Parts: sequence; structure tokens; C-alpha cells
Amino acid sequence: MSQSQIVHMRVPPPTPKKTVFTEAMEIFHRAADLIGLDKRVRLELEEPDYEHIFYVTIKLKDRLVPIPAEEAAKFSDLSVTQVRDPSGLELLADGKIILNRRALLGSDVSIRHGHLRLPNGNVYQLVPGESTRFKAYRVQHNQARGPYKGGIRYHREVSLDLFKALAAEMTWKTAIAEVPFGGGKGGIQIDPRQYGKEEMQAITLRFMYKLKALIGPNIDIPAPDVGTNGDIMALLYRQYSDGERERHNMRGIVTGKDVRIGGSEGRVKATGQGAAYCIEDYYAEKNQSLKGKTFILQGFGNVGSNAAEILTGMGARLLAVNDADGTIHNGDGIDVPALIKYVYENPSNLKRSVLGFPGAQKIEKSDLWDVQADMLLPAALGGEITGDIAERLKVKLIAEGANGPTTPDADRVLQRRGIDLIPDIICNAGGVTVSYYEWIQNKRMEAWTEAEVNHRLEQAMKRNYRIIRDISRNNPRRTEMHDSRRYCTGKEVDSRLAAMTLALKRIEAHYLLEGFSQ
Ligand code: NAD
Repeated sequence: MSQSQIVHMRVPPPTPKKTVFTEAMEIFHRAADLIGLDKRVRLELEEPDYEHIFYVTIKLKDRLVPIPAEEAAKFSDLSVTQVRDPSGLELLADGKIILNRRALLGSDVSIRHGHLRLPNGNVYQLVPGESTRFKAYRVQHNQARGPYKGGIRYHREVSLDLFKALAAEMTWKTAIAEVPFGGGKGGIQIDPRQYGKEEMQAITLRFMYKLKALIGPNIDIPAPDVGTNGDIMALLYRQYSDGERERHNMRGIVTGKDVRIGGSEGRVKATGQGAAYCIEDYYAEKNQSLKGKTFILQGFGNVGSNAAEILTGMGARLLAVNDADGTIHNGDGIDVPALIKYVYENPSNLKRSVLGFPGAQKIEKSDLWDVQADMLLPAALGGEITGDIAERLKVKLIAEGANGPTTPDADRVLQRRGIDLIPDIICNAGGVTVSYYEWIQNKRMEAWTEAEVNHRLEQAMKRNYRIIRDISRNNPRRTEMHDSRRYCTGKEVDSRLAAMTLALKRIEAHYLLEGFSQ
């Protein structure tokens, strides 16, 4: 090839790879273009401040692993091991059993070639616990408005890309909720259902041992997210403050704690409660109430179960629920308190699934999307409502309890089909709002009543949701409750763009008024 030929061969510019993060940022760029966001502020917000990846190692416990029937036949004459202390055996959702040493102490043990038979008749292989490594993350997206804030997720399908998207989402959400925080997110790549209670405790303690160098009650404040809860927050708090002289001043290191150790009344329900306030306000504007309204739900964890309980308490009817293990339907309405009992208070329901609930029929997951209802409440994982699903939905409103449940493709379909949307960054902001109340209570050594918390939450949710609706309709005004004059853009926009506009205008003000440190 001659020199001139080489010069004329142009390599096409690489098309940027589509990732969860780049998809999530599409709306950021649309809003930034709309308001002419300051260029430098845009650069600051386009990527996280810090992306931490680290590793957590622990020694796992011994496991009893069930073996296939044909292999078990070889042990037909193996006598049963009578376990003296059955509490030392911990049944896992994947069918394996954790064998704590105390289980076999003083028992009559018959082991052959590493196999034993339990009183249930099944033969198990004894697999010694090994040291194992897990990948952990903390992304700190932005702190222009206050310390980084965001949940800890324990889930098998997490990645740096996902945490970048979720951390950025927290930056927008804290701005919309008007709480003085920035955005962060993190967690561990792990399926918590495959590990025992003591193993999860060890993993959590080791996680905080490593995380401690990166966070603080005035630097970065974690909270529960998918796969974590108040018990995990208690361990994180203890590990962070262990041996510190002023450990009582450190309670604000995590939010979402049990109320008995500095958590806030109303925090467990706060995300579901906040979503319910938004939905109530959506209908109130149409002079309607929730009485008689129907809804379908995805996810029956913290957000989904609490939202379902509150919405049905307000007179709505739940027609179908889908979770990680299955989907159930009852056209007359599902008895939510009974379903909560079935999922959370039934020790034999190891997967904590709605599947098998006697008050409803099992349907396929794909059938969920065809159920006709007034509302759909996604409260599970991101990216579930795709363009195809959006085409099928037979609801009039989607209230996003989950983070990022609707893809940009689906957004376009929903708009075309005239399906209303309460976007995640306002709809599920109740959790971080009450997390802020918890953090203030910790700082002031106070404890507020649930009524006080809910009153403040209701005002905050409805005020900011009304500002977003005004931005969407380009209706600048000031009422007793809210003032949207600063935020309207001179044109009508969809509700997700309106929410992002509010977030960016609030964040930009910090950069422009405070200036940049060099
Ligand atoms: P959780 O772990 O308590 O519950 C998750 C639920 O989703 C479970 O019922 C699980 O079975 C279901 N699920 C998981 N994978 C699924 C799948 N592939 N298909 C269908 N269902 C599936 O989690 P959570 O705290 O309730 O969080 C749910 C969502 O709400 C997440 O997107 C989270 O980021 C968001 N969120 C949570 C909070 C909070 O305060 N907990 C606050 C804001 C947003």
C-alpha cells in the first residue's frame, strides 16, 4: 500500500458503546441541552467523582450439598445421622445446607466417603468451606450539594456500569427531594440467598472494614437497597464505629437503621409511602381518590410490599404481583396483609416469594404486562419495562418505585401511547428523604414521631412533585405549597425531562453561586 493510500484511509469514529450508564444518562443530556447547562458543570456531572472497586474475602462454612438420586443410591445402606442440635443446620434457598460445627457435636455421625444421610432421608455430600473473594464497589458521583448518599446493593448482577448509573440517579434524586446530599451507590456482587446468616455477617463486616477509608457521616452515607436491610445497616454501623471514642456521634454513618439503634420512625415504609403520596397527588389533581383504583406490581420487597400495603389501605386493589421467582394474579384483588404474612412471616418460604400464595393463581411473568389496571408500580430492578412491554401495557399510569425500571425506548412508547409517568427520581425519593430525617435526628440526638416524619415527608413529596408537573406543563407559579417559577423552561416537556430539569437547575446553582475550587 502506498503512502498516499494510507493517508486517505479514514478509520470511522467509534460508536460509543451503549451501556446501562450511557442509557441512564440520555435524559441528563436532554435536560442539559434544554436548559443550556453550564459547560463545566456538565463535564463535572457527566462522570462520577470517584469509582472505587475493591475485594472482600471471607472463609465460608462447610456445606451439605444434595446429590442426584442415582448417586444417592450408592449410599442406600448409609444410616441416618441424628443431629443433636438441628439449629446448627441452616437451610439455604438453593437447597444446600450450612453445617455449623455445633450441629454435630455429641451426635451419632455416620459419614462414608464424605457423604451423610440426614433425618429427612436425603444423602448429602459434605463440602468443606473455602476462602472466597467477592467484588465490591462504591461509586461517589457528586457532592456539590452535600455528602454522597446512596444505597448498598447485594446482588449477583451488579457492575461498575450499573453502580455509576445508580449513583448518578442519587445525585438527581437528592436534588429533587431538596435534601442536602449528593449521590453515591455501591455494594457487593453476591447472591445473598446462597449464603448463611453468619457468612453474610462476616461479608458485611469485612466490606465495611475496607469501605471505612472511603466514607464517613459527613462524607458518604450508605443506606439499604436491593438485598440489604436494617440488620445489615446495624452491622455496618457497628463495624464503622467499633472502638472509636465518640462512636455515638457516628450513628449517621448509615441510614435505614432499626429505630431502636437510631433509625427513624417511618424509614422502613418511607419509599413506598413517598410513592403513595405522589400517586395520591396525581389523582387529587383530577379530583379523584385511590378508592377503587386497581394496580399491578413488580417486586414484593421493601418498596413493593410497603407501597402495596399503603395503597390498598387507601382503597386501591392489587390485581397481580411478580417477583424474582414467579407471578400471581387475582382479579378480585389480592389480600395484601395476608400476602405479607405469607412472604415474610412464613419460615418455610425460604425464597420470600409470592409464589404459592393460596389467595391467588399463578400466571406467567409475561402475562403480568397484559393485566388491565389503572396503574403499574415497578418496584424490582432496572430495565424491566422495555419498548415491547410498553406497547402491551394496559395501564394508564406508571409510578416508578424501582430505580430506572423503564428503558429510553419504552419512554418513547409510553409517551406516544399517552400513558402517564411518575418518574423514579421523584416517585421513590421518599426513602432518601426520610434517610435525611434520620441523619438529622442522629446529629441532634433526637427521635421524631412517625406522624411528624410522615407529615414532613408528605409536604416534601407533594411540593416537589407539583414543581415537576408545573415544569412539564410550563406553568410557572407560586402557591402556598410550592414555587415553580425558577424552574419552568418556556416550553412543555415530558415528566422525566421535567424532573431532571429541576435536579440540574438545583445542582447548577451550587456551582455557579459557590464557584469552582481550582
Ligand atoms: P428488595 O431486595 O427488598 O426487593 C426486591 C424485590 O424485587 C424482591 O421482591 C425480588 O424478588 C424482586 N425481583 C428481583 N429480581 C427480579 C426480577 N428479575 N423480576 C421480578 N422481580 C424481581 O429491594 P427494595 O429495597 O424493595 O428495592 C426495589 C427497587 O426500589 C430497587 O430498584 C431499588 O433500587 C429501589 N429503591 C429502593 C429504596 C429503598 O428504600 N429500599 C429506595 C429507592 C429506590
